[in-house]
Amino acid sequence: MDASRPRSAPKRILIVGAGLSGAVLARELAEGGHAVTVQDERRHVAGNCHTEEDPRSGIMVHAYGPHIFHTADDEVWAYVNRFAEMMPFRHRVKAVAGGQVYSLPINLHTINQLFGRSMTPDEARAFIATQCRGGEDDPQSFEDQALRFVGKRIYATFLRGYTRKQWGVEPAELPASILRRLPLRFDYDDSYFDHPHQAIPRRGYTDMVAAILAAERVSLRLGAPFEGRAEGYDHVIYTGPLDRYFGRDLGPLGYRTLDFERIEEARGDAQGTAVVNYCDEEVPYTRVTEHRHFAPWAEADPHRSLCFREYSRDAGSGDTPYYPLRLLNDRRRLSQYVARAKAEAGVTFVGRLGTYAYLDMDRAIARALETARVLEDHWAMEAAAPAFVHEP
Ligand SMILES: Cc1cc2nc3c(=O)[nH]c(=O)nc-3n(C[C@H](O)[C@H](O)[C@H](O)COP(=O)(O)OP(=O)(O)OC[C@H]3O[C@@H](n4cnc5c(N)ncnc54)[C@H](O)[C@@H]3O)c2cc1C
Repeated sequence: MDASRPRSAPKRILIVGAGLSGAVLARELAEGGHAVTVQDERRHVAGNCHTEEDPRSGIMVHAYGPHIFHTADDEVWAYVNRFAEMMPFRHRVKAVAGGQVYSLPINLHTINQLFGRSMTPDEARAFIATQCRGGEDDPQSFEDQALRFVGKRIYATFLRGYTRKQWGVEPAELPASILRRLPLRFDYDDSYFDHPHQAIPRRGYTDMVAAILAAERVSLRLGAPFEGRAEGYDHVIYTGPLDRYFGRDLGPLGYRTLDFERIEEARGDAQGTAVVNYCDEEVPYTRVTEHRHFAPWAEADPHRSLCFREYSRDAGSGDTPYYPLRLLNDRRRLSQYVARAKAEAGVTFVGRLGTYAYLDMDRAIARALETARVLEDHWAMEAAAPAFVHEP
């Protein structure tokens, strides 16, 4: 927190959730002089980016799926470097389709391999244009968008089956916006992200989040579900699921959850890379992750490895919510929950679950920093804090 900013009278604040959003807010508000209690129903901090060392192999496991930190935001990059030694990490992903291994994101290598050609960038661009469906109007669905920009063969090989497995719905029902995250590349760049800063904390994310939370005036309660009571606090910051806060009485917001099948390997390297996607629909899992490759600097047992097969399905009420679905019904319900949340005095909803948004870690941190500033400004003016700083 910027010491030159006006400070309000100290408040007693309850933060529900010890993930990145809750931890960053706790740190910022405690440094601003407030007394902060952070409560999480899990027995560990760091939320979904939690990492833990496997006692047998010494491999750092990303317990809720693999997490790679990547950002173009220099403030956020400086922030994480205050709390962890960030080790440079280039994420490279392979895809298996029809018994072949391809390079992702779809790049010149992938295109040449799939079509059995050796095209230059310009040739490939012109060739892909011949494969694509034309049209002037805005594509309405993921499928429309794919057929328009990557063509039938690439769509059928890499996107259709994978998308159906990942989202459990027909690609024609998904919004076109999803495909904006999957650009075609007409060079051989196979780096999965293009942000200037890409890294993984040397000692894992949980260590980093614990360091963020290790501040004066922050107290931590783990294994403690929030049941809606917050007596003794001036303000609540809620980073849990928005619909759960209201007892899901308007119906649940749709999420996909993941099941992980753990495979212990009696060899040092089972698949040669961290992530392999399985695009064919007949293969029931979406990808296999081998976690030792996320920390090549770690002193893990060189003769053992750990892989996880990922299966995606609709989340029930007892499941961990991973990816917000945001189908038409969800968006309708979301606006009703948002209206209710805005009328909830003394509570601010933040984070990927609190705002029902897919947020990468850097966006979660940036939003938490911004929310802390906005809350301080409101309190300094003795005004009520807003329910949402970033509208979902
Ligand atoms: C499979 C997967 C892979 C991802 N990979 C990446 C990646 O590679 N790079 C990247 O930048 N981002 C990635 N992300 C996104 C990243 O996980 C989020 O940005 C980050 O977790 C957001 O933190 P958060 O604090 O908002 O939410 P969370 O981490 O979900 O934390 C919320 C916390 O609130 C607690 N909680 C909820 N309700 C209650 C309650 N009622 N009572 C008490 N506690 C409660 C939960 O237990 C949880 O600990 C990935 C996400 C998923 C799902």
